[in-house]
Amino acid sequence: MKVSIQTLGCKVNFAEMAELGDRLARAGYTVSDSDEAADVCIINSCTVTAQADRKLRTMVHGLRRRHPKAHLILTGCHVDNPNPRVSAVPSVDVAFPNARKREIFDYVSANFAPTGEQGSTTFTRSRFFLKVQDGCNHRCTYCIVWRTRGASRSDDEMHLIERAQRAVADGYGEIVLTGVDLGAFGREHGRTLASFVRRLLAAIAPARLRLSSINANDFTPELIELTAAPRFCRHLHIPLQSGSDRVLKRMGRLYRRRDYLTLVDVLRNQSPGMAVTADVIVGFPGETEMDFADTEALAADAGLSGMHVFRYSPRAGTAAPRLGLPVDDPISRERSRRLQTQAEAQRRAYESGFIDRDLEVVWDRQLPHRVRGLSDNYITVYASARGQQLGALSRVRPLTSTVDGLLCG
Ligand code: SF4
Repeated sequence: MKVSIQTLGCKVNFAEMAELGDRLARAGYTVSDSDEAADVCIINSCTVTAQADRKLRTMVHGLRRRHPKAHLILTGCHVDNPNPRVSAVPSVDVAFPNARKREIFDYVSANFAPTGEQGSTTFTRSRFFLKVQDGCNHRCTYCIVWRTRGASRSDDEMHLIERAQRAVADGYGEIVLTGVDLGAFGREHGRTLASFVRRLLAAIAPARLRLSSINANDFTPELIELTAAPRFCRHLHIPLQSGSDRVLKRMGRLYRRRDYLTLVDVLRNQSPGMAVTADVIVGFPGETEMDFADTEALAADAGLSGMHVFRYSPRAGTAAPRLGLPVDDPISRERSRRLQTQAEAQRRAYESGFIDRDLEVVWDRQLPHRVRGLSDNYITVYASARGQQLGALSRVRPLTSTVDGLLCG
């Protein structure tokens, strides 16, 4: 019985499907992320923008066309969004909201007998994505996620440490912590992300640890100190969203320009070369050319080595559309183009600083005659294929740069 898992959106979505894929494989199913000859397709959706809804619907219609007999199971934030721009729910066989996502395993087991042979999964990657927290208690005015994921809640620390240790024993060289609001981990139990990170780092040696994304306002002195610890990846994804204090206030974000820049300075003082990447929204209601210039300037001053640039997308059920002053489409497109060009130039400038310097990479993909890896400071690295093991850590010394990364001999 072939089960295809398709994941859209964030790393939390991916971590959830990696865990489900492992369970299904252990139960005897053949699991993959390709939809070739699939009997069952599980789609974990995103609804963060109108474009995400469109992309999902295109994917679902494509699966239905290619596999008319396959059983389509939809889950994820799109299912929980009461007013998606376009709904994909009518096009699938069954839909599970986020709160019932854990029932999918039982549903598949009850309705589709496994082949009985030892199952397999090609779904997992070479880095182990560990979801530790879900939901969010904040109310950023552009965001629908707190509605679709519910209140913030954390998984049990001991259970998480055991899962991470099992992954390291299975050969994973990197553990990636994911959460919808990762910085809130443990808060409802009076605990902190930092104390968990300290325990986890000790428990997963010799593997390394990466945080997937964390808000600037969640950096405590203890967590900042830990980012300089051995085996803590020198890369932090810290959503910025805007470089204008006026826009940050309208977004309901809990930091300002000065806070973000000071944080990046402190992080780099203790870990020179720390890679900082960010999410940025352009075209937010009321954003002026001055506000956008503040975003460009902050991105430059912070020396961001990567930016995910999103054009603002009004979501029903969020506060931002009521703020008025929409930004015209052509202006929003132009700002997105300019910022992506800036992001690309800054990424290449940052990466070129690591030519002819030692880097630790985890190999994550076999390519014809080459392997691809990811360095601890989030640089894509290529090397000639010499039997490198996916998931393993290696030290390399890149010699030149390529279009999307660095190249070793
Ligand atoms: S912190 Fe803000 S943007 Fe992030 S999930 Fe929560 S409400 Fe959404």
